[in-house]
Amino acid sequence: MRCSHMEHVDPHLAAETQVCKECAELGDAWVQLRVCKTCGHVGCCDSSKNRHARAHFHETGHSVIGPASGAQDWLWCYEDDDYIDAG
Ligand SMILES: [Zn+2]
Ligand SMILES: [Zn+2]
Ligand SMILES: [Zn+2]
Repeated sequence: MRCSHMEHVDPHLAAETQVCKECAELGDAWVQLRVCKTCGHVGCCDSSKNRHARAHFHETGHSVIGPASGAQDWLWCYEDDDYIDAG
């Protein structure tokens, strides 16, 4: 899928942390972490109880995320609700 929200996005933006700060403050656990490719915010995935990565999208409009783990590499757009073809 081609995404039209890539203008302010850095596909190579790395996660600055390996915790969901919002979950940590609540004392909750998360399943996976996602990094916002617009600003570097780290939040928990949709399989997690609090879905902070999605909440960040609703707050900021930053729609493009990727996995916070360097072992994986893909991009997802919340606005388009689909994976993005890089390049
Ligand atoms: Zn998009
Ligand atoms: Zn969270
Ligand atoms: Zn962001």
